[in-house]
Amino acid sequence: SKDAGGGIFHAYEPQLHAAAEERRVLEIALRSALKNDQLHLLYQPVVDAGTGALKGFEALLRWTHPEFGVISPAKFVPLAEDARLIAPIGEWVLRTACNEAAKWKDDIRVAVNVSPEQLHSPNFVNMVAQTLAQSGLSADRLELEVTESVFLREGTGTVQVLDRLIDLGVRLSLDDFGTGYSPLGNLSRTRFSTIKIDRAFVQDAARNVREAVAIVRAVVALADSLGMATTAEGVESEEEHLMIQRLGCTRAQGYFFGRPLPVEEARGLATGDRAS
Ligand code: C2E
Ligand code: CA
Ligand code: CA
Ligand code: CA
Repeated sequence: SKDAGGGIFHAYEPQLHAAAEERRVLEIALRSALKNDQLHLLYQPVVDAGTGALKGFEALLRWTHPEFGVISPAKFVPLAEDARLIAPIGEWVLRTACNEAAKWKDDIRVAVNVSPEQLHSPNFVNMVAQTLAQSGLSADRLELEVTESVFLREGTGTVQVLDRLIDLGVRLSLDDFGTGYSPLGNLSRTRFSTIKIDRAFVQDAARNVREAVAIVRAVVALADSLGMATTAEGVESEEEHLMIQRLGCTRAQGYFFGRPLPVEEARGLATGDRAS
């Protein structure tokens, strides 16, 4: 029995070790990524769900590592949070996105993801204010996307920070709605401009899963009555587009309308200058 236990232990140890080692290597690499210009943003179109007209872009972060290639934000953002690198990386993202959006037509917005760690970092609101001032982007063209997990930390002044952002004139979106721990009370604590409905609901609703259709319909009705917009995320097909249109979503985003684009391509669409 002791041997069996030892055997199991030894069988698992290399894997555990490899995961920890990979993490350590990535973390060291991430520290120098900013300095070495390995981060860039892609911009995914957000359109009017009814007409398909371009309304804005969501900035999505990419890290190109010289050896490992393109690393997904789903993998390195949590790492950056643990390593206390999310504040400088997030500041770079915001500055880059605001400077870019300042070049676009003034009815095109930019959305930037903000992680809970970053939102709670000291001076976050001042940093946003300074970045807006330096870029010349008007505050109402910036949308900050947060997930419900920002409310999970008690005693950190989340609601106050969000209120101060609203006072600056920026818009707030509630990202990934319906995927986490979502007491509806969060909607009454903060004046969100938009609820982003997760792709899982979009997919199921288009397949006529009764519960998904009912939930999307209810979220749209709730948003309407609170004066908020809804964005359907991850719309990949015409069927999904027709369904979310029928359910009354305000805006839509997904591969059906456009993949995340390199900066020059997004700029061409955002300025009406196709040549660039
Ligand atoms: P998210 O905010 O929910 O972003 C949407 C994700 O869905 C993006 O993945 C996007 O590329 C992907 N997507 C868009 N359309 C479709 C579609 O039609 N089908 C499918 N299957 N997927 C679609 P991405 O770029 O890999 O980003 C993953 C997550 O990483 C984001 O999820 C966001 O939470 C986080 N993230 C991205 N950029 C940043 C950033 O600058 N800062 C922070 N803190 N987090 C970021
Ligand atoms: Ca987002
Ligand atoms: Ca999302
Ligand atoms: Ca997500």
